[in-house]
Amino acid sequence: MSEFPSGTVVTSDEADARRRGVMLVLSSPSGAGKSTIARQLLDHETNLKLSISVTTRPRRSSEIDGVHYHFITLERFEQMRARDELLEWAEVHGNFYGTPRDPVERALESGQDVLFDIDIQGTFQLYETVRPDVVSLFILPPSIAEMKSRLHRRAEDTPEVIQRRLKTAVGEMKHWSKYDYVIVNDDLQRAFDGARSILKAERLRRERSPAIGRFIDGMVEDLKRETGE
Ligand code: 5GP
Repeated sequence: MSEFPSGTVVTSDEADARRRGVMLVLSSPSGAGKSTIARQLLDHETNLKLSISVTTRPRRSSEIDGVHYHFITLERFEQMRARDELLEWAEVHGNFYGTPRDPVERALESGQDVLFDIDIQGTFQLYETVRPDVVSLFILPPSIAEMKSRLHRRAEDTPEVIQRRLKTAVGEMKHWSKYDYVIVNDDLQRAFDGARSILKAERLRRERSPAIGRFIDGMVEDLKRETGE
């Protein structure tokens, strides 16, 4: 029995359910509003789940183990790396961070989209290994002044930490052209709308849905028989 017998009707919901998930990677220098946009996307897009990284960084008082990160020891991190259990990993400001491979692969396979809040080193590793699944989005603050003022307003970090974050920002921003999309976040609503539109469009990419290709081929065969073409 063919997967799509003659006369099959495929709804847009079924088509969506049969596709492979999107890996949506958000990157930005600190103070560009990435976390806010990420949170809004997760609130509005029910099929989108956050990839929870492992890290050797100590937990901040506002963070919950298993929600913001899985906080692990350096030994455990090294073990995961050695066993190839990480899809990518990086050292940021003296701490190690990595994306556990299994949950991501299972999600993509079942058509679930996954959001990544990872740095530029991690993004480039994903380009090397799983590029067709990846959609990368760089969020830019409208100006250096605005970026600084957001960092100061947040009042979470000491002046030294802010200075270090600005330094890191230089290293990240010079690679802006390696991202698929760039969004300037001068207006949160517009930036969020942009990110959401990108996700919606990327879900429809032909390559994510081989089943739809087979369905169309079947329809072409039916039509050929009908028209004698
Ligand atoms: P924070 O310690 O402030 O939560 O994160 C510091 C930096 O590490 C951020 O730029 C964040 O995007 C990045 N990061 C968090 N998790 C991962 C990860 O799993 N892989 C990589 N490559 N970077 C990560």
